[in-house]
This record gives sequence, structure tokens and C-alpha cells, in this order.
Amino acid sequence: MTTASASPRGVAILGATGSIGTSALRVLGRQRDRFAVRALTAHASVEAMAQLASTWRPSFVGVTNPNGTPTDAAWRTGPGVLSEAATLADVDIVLNAVVGAAGLGATLAALRAGKRVALANKESLVAGGELVTAAAQERGGELIPVDSEHSAILQCIAAHPTSSIRRLVITASGGPFRDWDERRIAGATREDALRHPTWSMGRKITVDSATLANKALEVIEAHFLFGVPYDRIDVVVHPQSIVHSMVEFSDGSVVAQLGVPSMELPILYALTHPERVEDGGVPRFDPVASSPLTFEPVRAAAFPMLGLGIAAGRAGGLAPAVFNAANEAAVERFLAGAISFGDIPRFVERALEQEAAGSVAGSRPTLDAIQGADLRARRSVMENS
Ligand code: NAD
Ligand code: MG
Repeated sequence: MTTASASPRGVAILGATGSIGTSALRVLGRQRDRFAVRALTAHASVEAMAQLASTWRPSFVGVTNPNGTPTDAAWRTGPGVLSEAATLADVDIVLNAVVGAAGLGATLAALRAGKRVALANKESLVAGGELVTAAAQERGGELIPVDSEHSAILQCIAAHPTSSIRRLVITASGGPFRDWDERRIAGATREDALRHPTWSMGRKITVDSATLANKALEVIEAHFLFGVPYDRIDVVVHPQSIVHSMVEFSDGSVVAQLGVPSMELPILYALTHPERVEDGGVPRFDPVASSPLTFEPVRAAAFPMLGLGIAAGRAGGLAPAVFNAANEAAVERFLAGAISFGDIPRFVERALEQEAAGSVAGSRPTLDAIQGADLRARRSVMENS
């Protein structure tokens, strides 16, 4: 389809005030004949939301945690607004751009209502992988990744069957500590960790990119999205963030997707997949200006969060939810100045050990079990010192 359809498709943006939400609204501003913004939610940024509401005039505005700040009387408030926005009758596509496992309920609700979920909120797939993929298969919803690596893989796989995939190669920028030694990394400050070399993003994912926890979350995300076993998913460091990921097929051919590092590209593709539409909003790729493109192995010992997260993915059951929740809590404490950068993997490992002692890995968890494990993991990190 190269022409706009008669009636635009309705879009809900959960987490509209964040980095992904803001990029998505830039894309939607250029695609007004194809898509209409019908619902917006934010967490606590009431003023930013007021601005967005007056610009976009969506029929639904939700604030999950207004914190006593006065809101417009027509706005909905409280944690339930995510699932409410995700299931509105005039919404076809739910862009879940909330940060953290707080987005899980809305991902499930949208899929169960038969919506397309454009998923930036990777934590919901990590915490509830089996539940989310089952909801997508059983109720006619669609799960399309926004994460640049997974958008790349989706585009590389195209119509090829899973059986023809030999290996997924997920690229990682390496973050700000790519060439730091282990001791220096352990003592990194908040300012060091928030200085990402290639991407401008929310604070939590920026810290995750410095520990490489983000890459572990992405390996688990790829496992659930594409049904590829963990021993056929590799990570390689590619500091330029131009090759967004690669797929090696059974005949040995490797297909990669390239582009300038801008989230507007994967956001647009998640809205239009499998079609492509005209959009001139992002700088064009210039191979000569982008040269050289380099690749190097991950220094596993310097970035223990990567190995811990992949091991949790392999263990299955509640382990990925525990890894995710413990990481969320540890990053929050690090950003609050309460713990060191080196404490993040120590505290997450402790939470995983505590959970492993009391649960059966590999079983298919219920939502209740996931939420229980999530709470225990956060508590473990909050009580650790
Ligand atoms: P951000 O912190 O900039 O924005 C988060 C948004 O979610 C805000 O609108 C905030 O109001 C809302 N929010 C925060 N806590 C919430 C809660 N408990 N309940 C409901 N809403 C809440 O984060 P971001 O960088 O935009 O990332 C959002 C998601 O997208 C994350 O899962 C991240 O891993 C993923 N992602 C981001 C990028 C990027 O470039 N920023 C790239 C790939 C994936
Ligand atoms: Mg990514």
C-alpha cells in the first residue's frame, strides 16, 4: 500500500511524554493522513501532558500517577489508565512506550483486545514472555517490535520461516564504558553512565546500556519475539550503531539492516509493517560518511549484567522477571545516588540467587506468580547493602 487509506488508523501512545513517545509523535506529525492519535498517557508529567493534549486533542488522556497535581477534569487517572487506553474501541495500534514491567498489563490487555502492539516496552516481554506470546497467538493481536535491533531482525527475516534461521546477531554500541577497565567501570558515576555515545534515551535504558543489561533484555526479547533458542542468539559490539542487527540463514547468507541511529525509523516501521511508506523525516544514510563500520567481541567479564540476564533467560520460569525487576530497582537506587555502579550486578545476582532457592525454574508462570516474583526481587534489592 503506497497511498493512505480512507480512514486513518487510531493510535494510543502509552508513555507519550518519554523519549520514545516524543519520537513517535514526531513521526505521527508527518503521517497525519494515515494515523490519528486517539489516546495519550503519561506517568507524573502533568504539565508535559497538558501541552501534548492541547496539540493533539486525543479523545482519551490518562495520567497513571498524578501525585496530587491537579489535572483536567476530563482526564482519567490511576494505574488502570494504561489498560483502558490500550483497549479503546477506536484504537487500532497501541505503542507501548512505558518504561519497566509496569507496562506488562497493558501489553496483555491490548493483545487480548486484538490490537497491534508496537512494543518499545521490552520489559513486559522479558517479565511475561510466555503470557505475552500466548496472548498474541490466541486473540488475534499482533506484536511488532520498536526496539531497533528487533525491528532490524524482523525486516531481515521478512517472509523466511523460523526453520531457515541459523543465528541472530544482535549488535550493541558497547555503551560509554566499552573501553574502560573493570575497576573503573565499578566506580563509574551517574553522569558517566548517563553519557551514551550514540543514542539519546530515557535514564533507565541509558543506564541499562552502560551495564549491558539492556542487551540481555534484548536477547530475551528476541527469543520470545522470533522463537529462536538462546544458543542461536549472539551479541556483537558495533560502536557506530549503524548496523542495527543481522540474521544468518541456513545457507550461510547473512542479511543486515542499516540506517542512521534514529528511533523514528523503527517506530514508523512498527506502525506500517509489513508495508513501507514515504517519510523524509530522518537523515539519509551515507555509507562513506558512516565509515568505518567496526565489530568487536563483548568483554563479558567487564559487563556481568549481560551474562546474568542471558542465564536468567535460559533458566526460564520466573528468572527473567526477577532479573528485570531487580535491575529496575538497582538502577533506581543507582540513579538516586544510593549505590555504586558495581553494586548493580551484585544486587541483581543476589536477588536471582534468593529466588532460585525458592522456586522451580522452567515452569510456565502465571501473571500472579510474575508479579509476586517481581515484588520479591525489588524488595531484595531495596534491602541489600
Ligand atoms: P522515558 O523514561 O523517556 O519515558 C517513559 C515514559 O513512561 C514516560 O512517558 C513516563 O511518563 C512513563 N512512565 C514511567 N513510569 C511509568 C509507570 N510506572 N507507569 C506508567 N507510565 C510510566 O523512557 P524511554 O527511553 O522512552 O523508554 C521507554 C521504553 O522504550 C523502555 O522500555 C525502553 O527500554 C524502550 N526503548 C527505548 C529506546 C529509546 O531510544 N529511548 C529504544 C529502544 C527501546
Ligand atoms: Mg535496542
